[in-house]
Amino acid sequence: MKLDTKMIHGGVFGDPHTGAVSVPIYQVSTYKQKRVGEHAGYEYSRTGNPTRAALETLIADLENGARGLAFSSGMAAISTFLSLFNTGDHLIVGDDVYGGTYRVISRVFNRMGLNVTFVDTSDPDAVRAALKPNTKAIYMETPSNPLLKVSDIEALSHIAREAGALLAVDNTFLTPYWQNPLDLGADVVIHSATKYLGGHSDVVAGIIVTKDAQLGEELHFLQNSIGGILGPQDSWLLMRGIRTLGLRMKQHERNAHMLATWLSEHDRVQKVYYPGLAQHPGHEVAAKQARGFGGIVSFDVGSAELADQVMEKARYFVLAESLGAIESLISVPARMTHASIPAERRRELGITDGLIRISVGVEDGEDLLMDLEQALS
Ligand SMILES: *Cc1c(COP(=O)(O)O)cnc(C)c1O
Repeated sequence: MKLDTKMIHGGVFGDPHTGAVSVPIYQVSTYKQKRVGEHAGYEYSRTGNPTRAALETLIADLENGARGLAFSSGMAAISTFLSLFNTGDHLIVGDDVYGGTYRVISRVFNRMGLNVTFVDTSDPDAVRAALKPNTKAIYMETPSNPLLKVSDIEALSHIAREAGALLAVDNTFLTPYWQNPLDLGADVVIHSATKYLGGHSDVVAGIIVTKDAQLGEELHFLQNSIGGILGPQDSWLLMRGIRTLGLRMKQHERNAHMLATWLSEHDRVQKVYYPGLAQHPGHEVAAKQARGFGGIVSFDVGSAELADQVMEKARYFVLAESLGAIESLISVPARMTHASIPAERRRELGITDGLIRISVGVEDGEDLLMDLEQALS
């Protein structure tokens, strides 16, 4: 089955009892048992729900994994993954991971004695150098936010395997439509499904997919024990979003590529970050491991004043946090998503006051270009 067909026919298609072509919303908490312990596959909806199960099967299918699990948010998925580890275990985590991931690791899981080294995962040697005898996992995002740094999934999977550690990849930015980390050697894929998978700014959800059924079973044990599950309505909304993922990702990519190219030639733009541009430092690795470069572009206009002007004058780009939905969004990372990073550290990383991040939507590309043109002038 080709990828675009798999988006529509993957997972569970429709309802065998009625012929309905979409999976029904099973708004139910408990299930009748014939005799004690004898039931039709479901006993209580924290443990399993048919609508959530259909979503979990679909996403496992799309990521080429053995088991999918759906959570109430990306952070619930990430926290459940982190609950695999014990006091004294060591993890290597990307130094520019999502702020919420950094926060839960450094302010919650640190209290349970999880040791973490934050390193630049785009440098495999730095990752290798950070290994310790008790390293149990490497956790990375590629491309990362907001500078779109690219990490080599296959190279890190070899380092993880030699060390007997798991490799977990947050695949939120590219989605299984463009990138399949499990095929490149990762053990676990994580998503904030709030972003592209949902795609319409109307649901908060998280996903884990494992390559191996045994690890999937362990994570299901944790999902059921901790309880951060996705409800049936949101599971249904997420499945509806995923069915058009291919159409949306192609249009996001087309628009982003066009705008990144145009911005890189604009006088008032000092620097453009987009892995699809040949001059991007991660371009080659990105082209090797992914089928597309995604819909997020960052660019530096040199000053907070000009960045403010662009924010104020943009009409189609909505000033908001988050990303990955049909409508274009614009933000200034230094004062929004990355404000909690100390100013000096931000400068070291390149997250300047003039850095603007756009999540390019699926509108007409010409309209988006004209909007940025008038906002920059
Ligand atoms: C948004 C985001 C998260 C957190 O997901 P929520 O659904 O907001 O809990 C994790 N990783 C990345 C890359 C994100 O963009």
